[in-house]
Amino acid sequence: MSKKFKDKLVDYWIKHYVKKGHCTLCGNTGVVDTTGTTTRAGVAVGGKNYCICPNGLALRKAIRREAKKHSKYGYEVPEENNIPGEKKENE
Ligand SMILES: [Zn+2]
Repeated sequence: MSKKFKDKLVDYWIKHYVKKGHCTLCGNTGVVDTTGTTTRAGVAVGGKNYCICPNGLALRKAIRREAKKHSKYGYEVPEENNIPGEKKENE
């Protein structure tokens, strides 16, 4: 993620998702948990994802960085939006 894009994303987040200094999406945990959410047709679309707030962006970056560092020991580098240890949909 480029710095320019990240800056725009954070500006957007500040404009729409901050209340009383806190992230209204994740409550400052950095993770948005929609586990159990389904469409009106019943399709399971929920799960845990990193938030677009600075906490979520920092978590995503730190975890991928650490995973890459330890990948030579077999540690799997998570996909961009996957949280390590979380069960993926359709598994
Ligand atoms: Zn957040």
